[in-house]
Formats: sequence, structure tokens, C-alpha cells
Amino acid sequence: MPILEKLVQPGQARRWTDSIPLEYHYTAGVAGEEFRRELRDNGRFLVSKCSKCKSTYIPARMYCPSCFIEMKDQFPMDKPGYIYSFTSVNQDRSGTETDSPMTVGLVKFEGVKGGIVHFLDVDPDQVSIGMKVTPSLKNSSERTGAITDIRAFKPVSTGPSRVSVESEKVERQVVGAGENPARLLLRSIEESGYPIEEDEMTISSLRSKISRGELLTREEDKLLHRLGDKAREWRKAVKTSSETEPGDTLSG
Ligand SMILES: [Zn+2]
Repeated sequence: MPILEKLVQPGQARRWTDSIPLEYHYTAGVAGEEFRRELRDNGRFLVSKCSKCKSTYIPARMYCPSCFIEMKDQFPMDKPGYIYSFTSVNQDRSGTETDSPMTVGLVKFEGVKGGIVHFLDVDPDQVSIGMKVTPSLKNSSERTGAITDIRAFKPVSTGPSRVSVESEKVERQVVGAGENPARLLLRSIEESGYPIEEDEMTISSLRSKISRGELLTREEDKLLHRLGDKAREWRKAVKTSSETEPGDTLSG
């Protein structure tokens, strides 16, 4: 039936089932392509920095979402990431049960906005929020510029690094093995020393829900992570001020 012809009787409508073969290509965009090229050629992550608000983003992107201006500064980043959140996955993309659960996490980098979601090559009993991780990459000859050039993120093995000794110590005390991420995050907020007064109501409702083992809603989860960020910032600020000579500190 030609496309402009109209049905005059509803009874003329017919349906049939078949499939249409479609192929499509996903384009990563200008900055996305540069990110992938840097990953493939040099095994590094490219980040973009906004000249106005000084925010740095991973993966590299063309525009600052806060200032709406083009970000021309891009540079590779070498610092390790940390696990911001993680979960266990029992099915692959087609919904087929996998032989063993896979651990997937959101890896963020100190002082950088955004992050990378990827597999974690960490023993499920050992994985914890805040754990320092580094990418495990395919050999350069095997890399194609795909995100799968990263095999997984694995724990930083070379002992506690200079910058992380302090926070690592705190995190180690805070986290236990095999506990649920929300509970760990809540505890790290409570133990950070961050003054929770203004968020006390929110925290206590989250706390009772988590202690009952209930799942948080998307909104609550977001809230918890926002508080986690505040606590993290707080801990960093406390650490920085304790390292600063009194003379360096601005009064008022
Ligand atoms: Zn900006």
C-alpha cells in the first residue's frame, strides 16, 4: 500500500510480524574521540578543564555543563581513581545469567567531575567505597579505542600512596567486608566528623531505612551520595587545615 493512500474501512488494517535488519554506528563526538584515541595510543585518560570555573571533567568533553563554554584545555591524567559506588551484576546485557557475579563500579578521581563505570577486578568481599583503584588495560597492540580497552579497575597495589595514607586509614576503619554500599557510605559520613546537624533529619531517615535493610529510592541514593561528597570534602578540609601552618591561614 503506497504511503499516501488512506484506509477507508478499519477492517482493511492488517498487521504482520517480521524483523528489519538495522545497523548503526555510535559516534563518540569530537572530545569523546580524543579521549578514546588517547586511551588507545597512550593508555591514559584525557580530561577537559574549563577555563572559567576551573572544573575538570572525565571523560574529556567539549563544553562545560556549568558555564556553557567550550573547553579547550585537555590533558591526560595519571592519578588513581577511587570507588564511588559499586554493585554486583548477575546477568549480561542480553539478560543471560552469568557463571559468577561481576562487580561493577563507578570510579571517580579526586578533584575531577564525572567518572567511569566499569568492571572492578576486586574480590567481592574486599571491595569498598573509597578504595583506590587503577585501570588494568589491554596491551597497546590489542587496544582499539573502545572503552573495553580497559579490562577492569583493580586496587592500587603499591602500598598506600603519599596523598592517601590518611584517608586510607580512615576508610579502612570504616569499611567492613561484604557490607552493602549504602551502609558503608552512611558510616563513613557519620565517622567523618562532618557536622551533620542541618542534615540530621535526612540522615536519621536514611539510617533507619538502611538498618532495616531496605533499598533506597533513586532520590535517597542521590541524597546519600551528596552527603558523602560533603563529608569527603569536610575530611579533606580538616586534613588540609591541620597541615597548614597558622601563619598561612587567612583570618576572618
Ligand atoms: Zn565551567
